[in-house]
Order: sequence, then structure tokens, then C-alpha cells
Amino acid sequence: MRTPTTLISFRWLLALLATVAAHGDEVIYPGYRWSTLGDGLYLHSPISPLAGPVDSNSVVIVTGDGVWVVDTHINPAVSRAVIAQIQRVTEQPVTHVVNTHWHDDHTNGNHAYRQAFPDAKIIAHKSTLAAMRREWPAMIAQRQQAYAPLEADQILAAADKLDDAEAALGYRIYAGYVAALKPELPELQLVYPDTLVEDRLEVQYGNRRIIVEWLGRGNTHGDVVVWLPDDGVLITGDLLVAPIPYAFDSPMADWIETLERLAATGARTLVPGHGAVQRDNQYLERVMSLLRATVTGVRKARQSGIPFSELSGAVDLSSHEQGFVGGDPERAYAWRTYYLAPGLKSAWTSLGFPVPDPQ
Ligand SMILES: [Zn+2]
Repeated sequence: MRTPTTLISFRWLLALLATVAAHGDEVIYPGYRWSTLGDGLYLHSPISPLAGPVDSNSVVIVTGDGVWVVDTHINPAVSRAVIAQIQRVTEQPVTHVVNTHWHDDHTNGNHAYRQAFPDAKIIAHKSTLAAMRREWPAMIAQRQQAYAPLEADQILAAADKLDDAEAALGYRIYAGYVAALKPELPELQLVYPDTLVEDRLEVQYGNRRIIVEWLGRGNTHGDVVVWLPDDGVLITGDLLVAPIPYAFDSPMADWIETLERLAATGARTLVPGHGAVQRDNQYLERVMSLLRATVTGVRKARQSGIPFSELSGAVDLSSHEQGFVGGDPERAYAWRTYYLAPGLKSAWTSLGFPVPDPQ
């Protein structure tokens, strides 16, 4: 039987553990890490940002007058875990959700927030809403149709039989999508932003100054950043992604100038859309240098009469590749799949050159 003394000790131990948990990293959903960025500022992020499903970071800002959440993950089950954690760290409701851009790894969880907090406003740039209306339903329908007949275990077993290591890596990432999203997609409701930002929204909310700002076209046409000037923290969305940038259908030429404006904010802490928090501008500068080299290389290739089909052999980004990849197979796959192939095409089209139809 438990004596009063041991009961007090047990309670004290629980309180101590809760304190340690509040200040340290925690796993509240398998494969993700909940960490503290500052006072009332939390980050929920995939532990391995390049593993499947490729998912966004999500930032929780407790203001003293409601909670703001920036980006809502690809999987509503993960969002529900974040909501449960928010309810452990504060009694305040979520009042605002920001979608930094339209991609489903930043927006699928909107559904979970709308269910838990029906009055929460969902903020995005007007181009983001337009892109969501145009692209999101088809993207989700395509995922649902593709994943329905598949089993993640079978894809993993098939990956084990492949001799081609890069192809096997692609299979494993895909298995991650199937495992995470197949149970969720049939129930997923697409919840759209209801509060639009054109250029800048600045508010004092409780004890925090929050600026939601469109700095220009970048990874998409409608990326907004969330800037907490008093905290020195800038949440970048996919304008900045680590350890490898993503460049699908990106207006690359504009993106460089947008990142110059981002650098000029003077933020001390950059929270990328994916990957590790940056405490200085070194990584940002490497990405800017890569984007400049890509756009310059593509422009020169075009001026030399190189056709689009021969672009990858004509634009040499190997010195940048070495810095980003550094011999790591996961990063090599991400470099080729998420940056090099889509980035060359994006640079080509963003310079106004036509892409021939596939034969
Ligand atoms: Zn993303």
C-alpha cells in the first residue's frame, strides 16, 4: 500500500517529469519531434525531413490571447496530436492558422483545426487560396486513387528486392505516404483559408507582435512568412527548406529577390518550411547562391541555343551539389528529385522560355 510520503514523492516526480518535458524535446506522434523555440513558441517537425511522407514543420505561437499555428502538416492525424499537445501547454484556444502556401503538406491538417476550433481563422495569401481551389482537390483525389489499392508493407518488401539503391529509397519514401495518408484521405475535408493577405498583416495579439507578410514570389506565387520581430523569429514556409530546397513550379528568378528581402528582416532565427532551424544566415546564403547559379546557368544555356531536353547536361551545379549533398544517399535522392530536375524546368519557364510538350 502506498504511504502518504511515497504519494507525495510520486506526485513530485510527475511534476518534475512534466517540467522536464515542457522544456525538452518530446515525441507526441511517431516520427516527429515537439520542441521549444522560445517562451510560448513551439515547433513540431519530422525527425527525418527527407523520409516519407515528406511533411512540413508546424509552429505553435501562444500569444496570451489565443494560439496561432503556422502550417498544419500533411496528415490530419499528426495535426490532432499537435492539437492535443497545445491543449496540454495552454488553456487558450487556437484562434488563427496560417497556411504559408498551398501545398498539401502544409494544409491537409486544416481540417483537424477546423473540427477542434470552429471559430479559428485560416490565413493565407490570395494566390494561395486561388492555387488551392485550382490544384488541391485533384491532388488529393489523385493521392487517394493511387494509394487505395496499395499496402505500405508490400511496397517496403518490393523495395528490399531492388538492386538500385536510389529506386529503393524512392519506394520507401512512397511507402511512408501510403502508410500515413491512406487511412486519412477518405475522411479528409478540404478546408480553405477564409482570411486573405495581400501584402502584409501586422497585429498585436496578446503579448506578441505578429506580422504575416508576402515578400514576393518564391517557392510558389503566394508564399507568406510569419515574422515575430520581438522574438527575432521568422517562419519562412518553403521559401527556405533544409537540407535540400524544393523547386516545383517555382518562379525562380523572383525567388532570389524575395530571399534578399527575407534576409533583410534581420531575423536571428529562421524556421524553414522543412528541416532544421537555422540560427544564422549561412544556409540561406547557400540557397540564394544556388538559385542564382541555376537561373544564370539556364539563361546562358538558352542563349547558347541549348534545347530544354539537354539542359541538365549544360548547366553545371556540381560545386553546389557537393555542398548540399555531401555524399549522403538520402540527400542525393532529394537533390535530384526535389531540386535539380524541377529547378531547371522552373528556371527555364520563369525566364519565359517555352517547354516543349512531351513526345
Ligand atoms: Zn513543403
